[in-house]
Amino acid sequence: MKDATLALHLGYEKDKEKAMQVPIYMTTAYEYENTDHAAKLFDLEEEGNIYTRIGNPTTKVFEKRIAALERGVDALATSSGMAGVFYAVSNLVSSGDNIIISDKLYGGSITLSTQTLKRFGIAAKYFDVKNPESLENLIDEKTKLILFESIANPALSVPDFEKITQIAKKHSVITVCDNTLATPYSVKPIELGVDIVVHSASKYIVGNGSAIAGCLIEAPFAKDKLKTKRYPQFNTPDESYHGLIYNEKFDNPFISRARLALLRDFGAVISPFNSWLLILGLETLHLRIKAHSENAVKIVEFLSNHPKIKKVNYPFLKSDENYDLAKRYLKYAGGIISFELGSYEEAKEFVSKLKIFSLVTNISDSKSLVTHPASTTHQQLSKEELINAGVPEGLVRLSIGLEDVDDLVEDLKGAL
Ligand SMILES: *Cc1c(COP(=O)(O)O)cnc(C)c1O
Repeated sequence: MKDATLALHLGYEKDKEKAMQVPIYMTTAYEYENTDHAAKLFDLEEEGNIYTRIGNPTTKVFEKRIAALERGVDALATSSGMAGVFYAVSNLVSSGDNIIISDKLYGGSITLSTQTLKRFGIAAKYFDVKNPESLENLIDEKTKLILFESIANPALSVPDFEKITQIAKKHSVITVCDNTLATPYSVKPIELGVDIVVHSASKYIVGNGSAIAGCLIEAPFAKDKLKTKRYPQFNTPDESYHGLIYNEKFDNPFISRARLALLRDFGAVISPFNSWLLILGLETLHLRIKAHSENAVKIVEFLSNHPKIKKVNYPFLKSDENYDLAKRYLKYAGGIISFELGSYEEAKEFVSKLKIFSLVTNISDSKSLVTHPASTTHQQLSKEELINAGVPEGLVRLSIGLEDVDDLVEDLKGAL
C-alpha cells in the first residue's frame, strides 16, 4: 500500500463496537489473566499490555503508522520532540563517549548535547554540515552517533545525506536525522542510509499547534551497526531483564531498548490522548505538507521581488546555497522561510504591522506565524554574535500556514 493509505488504515483492528476512529485507551494499566500470564509478560516471553509508561494500544497505532511512513522496522512515541532526541542519544552513549553534531541544529538539541549531556560525561563535537568530509577526522572509537537535520531549524540548510551516511557506514557509527521540518512526505532519511529518525511531532505531524509530542524510528539495517563492539549495551546481558541481550532477542533492538530500558526508567511517555491527536494529524499530513509548501513557494516569490528585502532564505529558491541538495533530496521544501530586513527597528515595525501572522516562537502550525529571533530566541547575543550565529538583527522567520495565500501576501505587503 502507498503512504496515504497506510497513514489512514495501518495497525488498527476494530473491536466489536466497530468504531471508525481509533479508540483512546485512556488507561494507566491492564488486567492480567492470572499470575502466570503476568509473569510471562514481565519476562518478555509474551507480548501484551502491562502499564502505559511502556506501551498503550492507541499509541501503538501511531507508532506503526509513523514507522511505515519512514520505512522503519519500529517506532517509539515520546512526550516531546526533545524527549525523542534525548532517547536517541542516551540509547547509544555511556559516560566517556562522544557524539558528533551538525553545526546547523535546533537550539534545544544544541543545549542538550553541549551543556546537559556534558555533565553526564558525554562530549559533543561540531561538524561542518556543508563539509561532511570533516567527519573523517572527528570520528574515533568513542564516537557513538552523528546527529543532523534534514532541513535544519532555523538555518534551513539541507545536508548531503549520502556523503554523511557513507562515512558513518565506513566507521559503523549510527546516524540520527531529525526529520521534523521535512516530514516523510518530503524525504525519507532511512532510504538514504540513515539509521535512526527523530521527530518533534508537535510541528507538522500534529499539524495545528495542539500538542507537544515526539517519536523515534529505527531503520531495518541499524542492527548491523549495533552488533559491532562500539555498542556493548546491545550485545551484553541486561541484568534488569534476567540477562536479556537486545541484539539476540529483537529485530528492532534500538526501539526495544529505548522502550524497555529508557521509557521504563526516564518515563517521558506520551499521553494516549496526544497519540490520538497525532493519529488524526497523520491522516492529512500528505495534503498539508503539500499545501504549506505551495503557499511558501508563492510567498518566497513575492518576497524575493520586494525592494525592502535584502535576502530570502528558502531551500527551493534558485539563489539559495542549499538549492542543489534540496532539489536532489526533497520533494517539498516545507513552510518555513526566513528573510532579512535592513535593521532591528525595521524588523520590529514589520512584525508589529502584521494582522494574520501571529508573533509566536513556534513553527509548522496550520496558522501562519512570525518570529523575530534577535528580540526573542537570540536576545542575549551582541550584534557581532548575531551575525556569527547566522541571525542578523533584521532577520525575520515566517512559518507559512494553510490560510489562502492571497490573504497572506496582502498581509505581508501591508506590513512592508
Ligand atoms: C521543535 C523542535 C524540536 C523539539 O521538539 P518539542 O516537541 O518542542 O520538544 C526538535 N527538533 C526540531 C527540528 C524542532 O523544530
